[in-house]
Amino acid sequence: MDTQDKKHDEHFDVVVIGGGASGLFAAGRAAERGKKVLVLEKNRTLGEKLLLTGGGRCNITNATYDTREFLAHLGKGTEPLFSAFAQFDVAKTFAFFERRGLSLVVEARGRAFPASQNAGDVLKVIESYAREGGAIIRVKTKVTRILEKKGRVVGVETAKSVIGADAVIVATGGLSHPETGSTGDGFTFLRDLGHSVEDPAADLVPIEVHDAWVKALSGTSLSFMKMTVYANGKKAFAKKGKVLFTHFGLSGPLVLNAARAIGTLLAQGRVTIAIDAYPDTDIGALEKDIIRVFDQAKNKMIKNVADDIMPHGMAEVFPLLFPHIPLDKKVHSITKEERRLIVDTLKALPVSVVGLMGMDRAIVSDGGVPLDEIDTKYMRSRLYPNLYVTGDMIHVNRQSGGYSLQIAWTSGYVAGSAA
Ligand SMILES: Cc1cc2nc3c(=O)[nH]c(=O)nc-3n(C[C@H](O)[C@H](O)[C@H](O)COP(=O)(O)OP(=O)(O)OC[C@H]3O[C@@H](n4cnc5c(N)ncnc54)[C@H](O)[C@@H]3O)c2cc1C
Repeated sequence: MDTQDKKHDEHFDVVVIGGGASGLFAAGRAAERGKKVLVLEKNRTLGEKLLLTGGGRCNITNATYDTREFLAHLGKGTEPLFSAFAQFDVAKTFAFFERRGLSLVVEARGRAFPASQNAGDVLKVIESYAREGGAIIRVKTKVTRILEKKGRVVGVETAKSVIGADAVIVATGGLSHPETGSTGDGFTFLRDLGHSVEDPAADLVPIEVHDAWVKALSGTSLSFMKMTVYANGKKAFAKKGKVLFTHFGLSGPLVLNAARAIGTLLAQGRVTIAIDAYPDTDIGALEKDIIRVFDQAKNKMIKNVADDIMPHGMAEVFPLLFPHIPLDKKVHSITKEERRLIVDTLKALPVSVVGLMGMDRAIVSDGGVPLDEIDTKYMRSRLYPNLYVTGDMIHVNRQSGGYSLQIAWTSGYVAGSAA
């Protein structure tokens, strides 16, 4: 007998596949409406990816209250999300979490974090939202298939049982950091059901770089840098922002948000980056500033003034950037050519891009169900009237800055309201 016809061991109004950000939110909302809800999570614990967000601090949303402006950050083709945001937008997200005792603080570029700076507190709020409405949460339970009959979904299959459902919400996440459980199962389920799932490519990924000076700065982040990207020696684009140096290369908001464009350029050839450490000071003014520092420290060794001429935190890489200038050389002996070299280098720190890091380092992956296959007023599949899709399952180009989790809250709320 085929499992589609097997007798169901249990039956729920709503089965949510995935106990991550959007799944728990959807479960909470559906349970709040009085639905009998079951959440199935394959890991031992809930929200593993959520606990990694924002380096453990959880950039929970972005304080861009105007939906049009918010969606503009997600690129073209996101207009369909308006109807979902009309039901649960950024302001409602703030209100939801603050009402539940989690106050939020807004940092640079609108990025909002829990005041406690702890992603675990966000997980606690959404888990209790689901539980207080009576949702049953079952961990260590992997869904292997969504069952369908006569154009409707009728339940899910796990390794141990078949569970009937009036509605199924697929909240299995994308493909980034697969060790957290999001291994793309939902994409397979939806493909099997006839949806055209876009192939995911890692999005918002760090850049792999082997330049020694970059690696030596591992753990340092420098704000207000300008990154000019060259493809085969020709300028492609430039952006300003914060760069994080890591042991494998470059990360941080500026780099993550440029990853997609850099990936496209890499397919065409060699990509190099020049980082301007003083983007608001032109070469002439920077040289004057350095001359002033040198004049005041003529008898000091260059290693003792490096911190005064380079952005804070960078002095340690002086010998890697300027191997021909001995560290114990007295400032008064620095030649004009050496001074020019220092100025030119600080205006264009050289980086050679090896490639983009893989899915294991991506913040989000794009790919997933195209928005035109979802009725976004309900986050419902256009192919099945009782199948819903949330969070990273949706094909949107996300930017770093809390946008991705806001989509999880909005889509989870809307699916939980409709299912
Ligand atoms: C390192 C890192 C940092 C990030 N930081 C931020 C940030 O600060 N701000 C931000 O907005 N976004 C951030 N993101 C993105 C954000 O985490 C995701 O957008 C969000 O978690 C998506 O929620 P989701 O519910 O779609 O999926 P997930 O949170 O990935 O949850 C999916 C769940 O489904 C489960 N599952 C999968 N398959 C099955 C199956 N077959 N059966 C049962 N369960 C299954 C998984 O185990 C997982 O628990 C970050 C991502 C990463 C990787």
